[in-house]
Parts: sequence; C-alpha cells; structure tokens
Amino acid sequence: MPTTTRRPRPQHVLTVESTERLGPRLVRVVLTGEALADFGAEEFTDAYVKLLFVSPELGVEPPYDLAALRESAPAELQPLTRTYTVRAIDREARRLTLDFVTHGDTGWAGPWAQSARPGDRAVLMGPGGGYAPDPDVDWHLLAGDLSAVPAIAAALEALPSEAKGVALLEVEAESDVLEVTAPDGVQVSWLVNPDTDDVDFLARAIDAAPWPTDVSEGAVQVFAHGERESIKAVRRSLKEREIPRAAISISGYWARGRTEEAFQAEKRTPVGRIGD
Ligand SMILES: Cc1cc2nc3c(=O)[nH]c(=O)nc-3n(C[C@H](O)[C@H](O)[C@H](O)COP(=O)(O)OP(=O)(O)OC[C@H]3O[C@@H](n4cnc5c(N)ncnc54)[C@H](O)[C@@H]3O)c2cc1C
Repeated sequence: MPTTTRRPRPQHVLTVESTERLGPRLVRVVLTGEALADFGAEEFTDAYVKLLFVSPELGVEPPYDLAALRESAPAELQPLTRTYTVRAIDREARRLTLDFVTHGDTGWAGPWAQSARPGDRAVLMGPGGGYAPDPDVDWHLLAGDLSAVPAIAAALEALPSEAKGVALLEVEAESDVLEVTAPDGVQVSWLVNPDTDDVDFLARAIDAAPWPTDVSEGAVQVFAHGERESIKAVRRSLKEREIPRAAISISGYWARGRTEEAFQAEKRTPVGRIGD
C-alpha cells in the first residue's frame, strides 16, 4: 500500500514590533516580517494562526522540522502549538495583529504575550479560517467570550454599513470592555459575568436577543465561539430555535481547566463535542 506523508505546513518567522495592554485580561501583540507580504486567508474574518512554542533547550532554529522533533524530543520538550485569531493584517506594512487573553501564569501563549518585547521572535503556521459575514444576510448574531472578541471585532468591521444584528460579548468584568466599530444597525452588548461557573450565561443572553421571525437560511447568520461548555449551551439554544446548521459557525475555542493539547484531544471524545 502506498504510504501518504503529510506535507509540513509552512512556518513564518516573525518579530514582535510592539505590544499594548488593551485591558486587564487582553494583550495586543503586533508582529512584523517579510513573510506577511503574501499572507493568505483574505476571505475570512475568523482567520487564525498556530503559534509554535519550541523549547530553546532543543537547540534548533526555525523553520523547525516538527516531525523530527516530535520523534526525538523528550515528552517534556515536545513542540506545542497555540491558536490565535488574526485580529488585523496589513500586508503592505508587513504587520500582523494578535490579541491574547491573559489568564495568569499557566500555559504558554498567554504568559508569552504578557512578557513579549519588541524584537522577540514568533514562529507561526497558517492562516486557516472558515467564516466571513455574508453581506446579503438580513440579521447577524455574533456571540462569544474574550477569546472570540478578536474574531467578532474583525467580523463587525467587515459588515456592510446597512447590516443589522446583535453582538453579545461575555466578559468577566466591566474593565474588560473595549471600543469596537460596528454598523449602526448592529447592537453591541458587553455582558459582564464574573461567575465563570455560570456556563449558561451566554445562551440566556442569546435567548433574550431580539430575534427576527424569519430564521431561515439567508435570513440569519450566526457566529458563536468561546469557552467549550458555554458554547455547548449556545448550541442547544440555537437548536431549539431551529436555526439552519449551514447558517451557523460555532465551536469551542478553549476549555476551562484544559491546556490546548487536552482540549484538542477531547474533541475526539463525548465531552469535547459541542453538539451537531
Ligand atoms: C480558531 C481559534 C481562534 C482563537 N483565537 C484566540 C484569540 O484571538 N485570542 C485568545 O486569547 N484566544 C484565542 N483562542 C483560544 C486559545 O487558543 C486558547 O485559549 C489557548 O488554550 C491559550 O493557550 P495558553 O498557552 O495561554 O494556555 P493553555 O496552555 O492552553 O492552558 C493553560 C490553562 O489556561 C486556561 N486557559 C486557556 N485559555 C484561557 C482563556 N481564554 N481564559 C481563561 N483561561 C484560559 C486553560 O483552561 C488551562 O487551564 C482561539 C482558539 C481557536 C481554536
């Protein structure tokens, strides 16, 4: 039988140009590098990249031979990837903007972003992506937590000026609220929920939204992403409303108490599924 080998995904080696704290839990990191001249995924507002974390102890330089490292590196030095939305890309100026939720000193990407300084190196793969707001849809619902704010803010900026809908953004504190640009007909609501155990909070807000009577395909479009358990509740709510599946972009972006490795691995088990 012929063996199939996966072609390694191209890696972009970039440099931190600047960082900015946008709020108590959000840090913006602007990356620069020639590789951004022909960066793809123009068509998606939820374009994302995979940041690569390779321990300096391995003594290797990018682009990394990930397949070889996965074979040879000891378990505690395995290369790691972390997924981040392209908040903005300026190919001409060679600038890529990523916004990182910071969540204490656990994990890799959050702490990296908190301490990133101009001149630091960042290696990433991508972009991927799958959603863009359809300008012909009558009503848009965009919902998520702080990890989805970069994608939702990018979608709001891409909507035509006459677009209608609501954006429901769940945050832990008033101080997390940011300025976002949205069409006049799209009501942006920042919803403060300090109780991180209340995973039905966003779903309740979606239930209470001013839904149009016609929710058929072409009439509505939904983008809902964030913490996995909260997104499961959102999925149940959308199902009750019989929103057509094709009109919905929905997924967990992370799961409380799980590293990205555990979160990705659990997608293959019942707890990791957000519902069809
Ligand atoms: C397509 C896609 C796009 C994404 N875009 C963004 C983005 O633009 N900005 C962004 O911040 N995140 C984004 N995420 C989520 C991000 O990939 C995860 O939050 C990731 O786990 C962070 O990695 P880490 O190394 O900081 O923490 P990990 O090592 O993965 O986890 C360590 C601990 O931190 C907790 N943790 C992880 N993320 C959060 C969080 N957001 N809030 C509170 N606790 C957390 C985990 O539950 C775990 O207990 C996106 C995810 C996907 C799939």
